[in-house]
Amino acid sequence: MILNIVPITAETADAIRAGGPDAAGRPAARMVSTGAGFPCRLCLRNIGEGEGALLFSYAPNPPGPFWEAGPVFIHEAACRRRRCNGRLPTVARGGARTIRAYDADHRIVYAENRLVDDPAALEMELRGALIHPDVAYVHVRNSRAGCFAFRVERA
Ligand SMILES: [Zn+2]
Repeated sequence: MILNIVPITAETADAIRAGGPDAAGRPAARMVSTGAGFPCRLCLRNIGEGEGALLFSYAPNPPGPFWEAGPVFIHEAACRRRRCNGRLPTVARGGARTIRAYDADHRIVYAENRLVDDPAALEMELRGALIHPDVAYVHVRNSRAGCFAFRVERA
């Protein structure tokens, strides 16, 4: 199984950078990265110290019972969307992660949700969740902050 890593869309990032409303109906907050802890959800790289970051509310799922929004960063300056198929991005290795599994109707498949404390085990756990036939895709989240990092599907 090839893991298809899916960042937020370029259209979402473009609209936020242009001052458009986020999932909460507000423009993004401008920040300056202090180094670690500023993962860009478009290029899936960390936003380096001193670089501009935009913080906004993002809803990874379409409207429905499992719709929810939470805070994410992107680079303030243009960057390239990265789909790194087949291998996990560097931002996946920053610490404990939660895998949240969803079916094709965007409902949580509770039995396949996983807490992954060891970053080295993340790929194996993703494969374990995605092999389940009811699972259409998963979200990878930062366990401590709860923030959405990226979606993963079977390629
Ligand atoms: Zn970026």
